[in-house]
Parts: sequence; structure tokens; C-alpha cells
Amino acid sequence: MSAVNPVTRLDPAVHAYRYCPHCRTELGSRNEGGAPRPTCPSCGFVQYLSPAPGAAVVLLRADRICLVRRKYPPKAGQWSLPAGFQEYNEDSAGAALREVREETGLEVRLGEIFAVHTGVLPPDRSVLVVIYRADEIGGRLQAADDAEEVGFYPLDQLPGPIAFAIHRSVLSDLRAERGLPPLKGT
Ligand SMILES: [Zn+2]
Repeated sequence: MSAVNPVTRLDPAVHAYRYCPHCRTELGSRNEGGAPRPTCPSCGFVQYLSPAPGAAVVLLRADRICLVRRKYPPKAGQWSLPAGFQEYNEDSAGAALREVREETGLEVRLGEIFAVHTGVLPPDRSVLVVIYRADEIGGRLQAADDAEEVGFYPLDQLPGPIAFAIHRSVLSDLRAERGLPPLKGT
């Protein structure tokens, strides 16, 4: 694990609205909850910038880990765990189940939470990712949605590059459980 999480270097001001999304008034700045935030002098709207929650899944067949090759940016062509963003109207576990189904064709039962990581989705999106362990219960392995390839790979012979620091960290932790060295970049 790196000593300083890159999320702490993000500047929320980069994503501040200039105009109120409700009433179109130009926003000012006011201290709300311990920090200056964009606020609307007309209707009272306050812009709270929050990390985007996502879910990822550790799915193993013996000592092989399920990875998908990404079809779209960021990091198109690179590999990751089955993962994606949680929709506004679903829970974290539902997002994990849906992403596995969409990207791999497999149905899984979620196990314990493997880890929770904060980090940066390139270039500058703050994310909070809940990583679940899972077991297969059905379906048929087939890449779809935003995955162009899916497979199970030995932890000591992973394809590369692995797209995201959080995923590299999870894979390094899985490798450490088996006495293997960490991946580069973690
Ligand atoms: Zn307003």
C-alpha cells in the first residue's frame, strides 16, 4: 500500500458548479459543515461533492481469478476485476451482482467483504470501492457489456496491465495470501 492515498491530492474546486443546477443563479461560496462549498444565494442549494461508490468482485476458480478486459476508456484494453459504479437506486451488493452478471455472464453469491478502498478513477474522480468475495452459482462465462474479454487467470500469471491501483492492490493482497510478491505499481 502506498503511504499517501492519491485521493487526498484531489481538488474538489475543479468540479464546483458555477451556476445553480436548480435555479441557474451564479453560485457563491459558504462554509457548510466545516468546508467552503458552492452555494446558491437565491434558493439555498449547496453542492456537496462526494466520492462515487463502486463495487468490485473477487471471484476465484481454485487459484484462478476472474478478470475482464475493458472495452471502453478509461484504460480500454487493460484488465480489471468485474466492477462498476453503484446506481443511485441500488444497494452496494446489488451493484456487485449486476456488474458480474453484465460483464461475465455468471451468477454469483456474495461472501464477505474483502476490502474497502478509496482512490482515484483517472483522471480525477474520487471513488469508494467495496470489494466482495463471491462464489459462482450459475450462468455461462461470456464477456459482454463493457468487457470485451473475460477469463480466469492464475494469480502468478496474470494478464496485464491491470487497469486501476485499487485492483492492483487487491490482486497483490490475494497474491500475498499465496506467498507471491506484489504486483508492480502497488
Ligand atoms: Zn439556486
